[in-house]
Amino acid sequence: MSNFLRMMYGRYGVDELSKLLFCTYIIIFIIGLFIKIFILDMVGLLLLFIVIFRFFSKNIYKRTKENQKYLKIRKKILKPFKNIKRNFKERKEAVYKKCHKCKTTLKLPLPYERGIKHTKCPTCKNKITFLCLRKQKIEIITDNERMKK
Ligand SMILES: [Zn+2]
Repeated sequence: MSNFLRMMYGRYGVDELSKLLFCTYIIIFIIGLFIKIFILDMVGLLLLFIVIFRFFSKNIYKRTKENQKYLKIRKKILKPFKNIKRNFKERKEAVYKKCHKCKTTLKLPLPYERGIKHTKCPTCKNKITFLCLRKQKIEIITDNERMKK
């Protein structure tokens, strides 16, 4: 075993939380090249210290817990963006609506006529009213038709 590996044995290393802290440190460092703000420098140093501390930490259980907590928060924060991405990607196939009562997400396939629509939540049988702004039908143009034009 090399000296480095021996030193690293039983140490925690890098995880997603450390990556975030390190990226934040880099951003602060770059900002620091242009503007000198004492507190910002201190925050940067503190972040770097935490990253190094976590890297060499032997309390793997505690570090894992911290990382899990971070991942949970990150998932919560990123969820709306994920939904926006999904809604955009599937904008021609379906409309997504959330049941206010049980928070189940319903996938309502298009095409829908424009206007106020009613549907029932399959989980809690709650009646859902929603406004559909789109009237879309997926048109399939065959090669034959295209050739006629
Ligand atoms: Zn429901």
